[in-house]
Amino acid sequence: MPLNAKALGEALHEDLTLHSTLCRRDAGAFQKAIQSGQDVVVACTQEQRLFGDLGQQTEGAVSPIRFVNIRETGGWSRDAAKASPKIAALLAAARLPDPPPVPTVTYKSTGRLLIIGPLDQAEQAAALVSDVLDVTLFTQGPGNAGGAQARRYPVLGGRITGLTGWLGAFELQWSADNPIDLDLCTRCNACVAACPENAIGLDYQIDMAACQSHRACVKVCQVAGAIDFTRDATAQTERFDLVLDLRAPTATPTFLQHALPQGYLRWDGRDLGTLLKLRELVGEFEKPKFFAYKQKLCAHSRNETVGCNACVDICSAEAIASDKSRQQIKVNPNLCVGCGACTTVCPTGALTYAYPSATDQGTKLKTLLSTYAAAGGKDAVVLLHSQERGQSLVEELGRAAQLKLAQGVPANVIPVALWHTASTGVDLWLSAIAYGASQVVVLSTDEEAPQYLDGLQAQMDVAQAILRGLGYTGTHVQLLRANHPTALDAALQALGQTRQKTPAVVARFAVAQEKRSTLEMALDHLTEQAPMPVAERPAAIALPAVGSPLGTIEVNKDRCTLCLSCVSACPASALQDNPQLPQLRFIEKNCVQCGLCATTCPEDAITLQPRLLLTPERAQLRVLNEAKPWACVRCGKPFGTVKAIEAMLGKLSGHPMFQGEALERLKMCSDCRVIDLYSAQNETKVTDL
Ligand code: SF4
Repeated sequence: MPLNAKALGEALHEDLTLHSTLCRRDAGAFQKAIQSGQDVVVACTQEQRLFGDLGQQTEGAVSPIRFVNIRETGGWSRDAAKASPKIAALLAAARLPDPPPVPTVTYKSTGRLLIIGPLDQAEQAAALVSDVLDVTLFTQGPGNAGGAQARRYPVLGGRITGLTGWLGAFELQWSADNPIDLDLCTRCNACVAACPENAIGLDYQIDMAACQSHRACVKVCQVAGAIDFTRDATAQTERFDLVLDLRAPTATPTFLQHALPQGYLRWDGRDLGTLLKLRELVGEFEKPKFFAYKQKLCAHSRNETVGCNACVDICSAEAIASDKSRQQIKVNPNLCVGCGACTTVCPTGALTYAYPSATDQGTKLKTLLSTYAAAGGKDAVVLLHSQERGQSLVEELGRAAQLKLAQGVPANVIPVALWHTASTGVDLWLSAIAYGASQVVVLSTDEEAPQYLDGLQAQMDVAQAILRGLGYTGTHVQLLRANHPTALDAALQALGQTRQKTPAVVARFAVAQEKRSTLEMALDHLTEQAPMPVAERPAAIALPAVGSPLGTIEVNKDRCTLCLSCVSACPASALQDNPQLPQLRFIEKNCVQCGLCATTCPEDAITLQPRLLLTPERAQLRVLNEAKPWACVRCGKPFGTVKAIEAMLGKLSGHPMFQGEALERLKMCSDCRVIDLYSAQNETKVTDL
């Protein structure tokens, strides 16, 4: 692997000494470095374990140690000789401090395992885990061989009516509706032999569809008394820490979501890896609480009307539910798998990714891109991939390149591992372009839920439309689908065939934790540096109808009665009233296109129009509709609108309750109405009663 220590040292502003056998002959240099107290970055992930052990055994070792892979990510590629800027960038990013800790979610499992499936297979699985797990079986028929004669595990039977929960907290509900009570059954097999219809299997449950009611089984089971056809079905519930499901994935009730709850595993009867995983799930486990939620910013609902439902729709773990009565959504942290898709599609930033935070992700991108450029790199492509399948794909490609079977990761492509590829969105992608990336590519493998890809694509279409509208030609943001090193190799090589326009000056802003602030800063910079001359730019860039977090609304003035329901529904203060006049006012920059105004409007007067307005008007308060105020006929104070009062008078003039003085009072402000009522001689007052 060609490494230029001098060039790397210059890019990183420090003297670098190259150690090619740090894990063997040069181990002393590593030990000395970790005694220095300074942060130590080891540019090798292969021997991470060995370095960890060495660190523990070294007396006085106090330095934080970080690891980074510069080999499969570029050093083994065909154009490795040109990879110094990328390697410098990866080393610089590896030096960044770890993200600050966030609150955690804890799971406790004592190892109570439920296995659901045909009894022969369930027992087979149980035999492989029962030395560490406390197993209960739920029979789904005897299978080919039936259950073993020896009663080694408790067996439950009947009809499953519910299965909910997560690691350490699963709840099984079932209806015990079979005539054979498995607690009383001694497995003597007398009933199996006596049944003329062979309706009783070796799981000791009667197939009621086959049973012809001879009751021969009841006679032979008199001593044990386990069979009773008159017994009522009873609803049963039991809790488990873990579930191993041998049924088909479509069997119900079960978990149908793409991201299954932790602690629930399916087994095909062959993959021993699943059982090994299960054996490890005993004890206390922690994971970061990946999201942060600010109800104040949430555009989900107002007054029981649902507006934005993007997070609920996209979550592949079914961890998000609507709580419209409280104008919010609810996230179950135990089911959340931290994919971050909800934060990507959230238009307001009410849901944000907490670990790592947007700020940490932004700092990393900025460090990578600025170091890359300072080291002389050109046309940087940020390749965002998952740290599981995406990471192994990049590593497989690197190994293939070393063996001359592939080109490898190009020198201008900087791989960045994320917990999940759905965790970044339009704000971070546009920031990366503003920081100087020519492209941001998100690698999709087989692991993502289909709705994530749709969500990412919709956001990418928005980002791409903005860039194109500003004159940044080329394809800057794209989804790259590959699940094999050969496909990844071809796709990465193809990236080099397009040319992208980038900002002439790179941005200096720091990514904020608030999504809208970051988006606005990125938009400001990209607009300021736009290749298209101001005179040629359109007033507004039209954005895709789906997924745009930017835009305006159109109000049909003939329909709008200025009731201002939309103002109280707007969660982003984009719609505002005017306390002095009957006016509906709007600040386009604040609008998140949630649609709550349109669904709330009783007159159906509002239409959303996704766009990015490029004129200063975008940040200014403008009047969308206004009307002549009605002047109180008694005191002259303005209240309501002429149109609304006249409409009301028209509707109520024929009503017997609103005749004469009562009709006249409708033309008065609320204060005058009360005064007039109390001063009228011919009216009965409450105080008179
Ligand atoms: S747009 Fe609809 S909700 Fe808003 S003020 Fe007009 S009528 Fe009322």
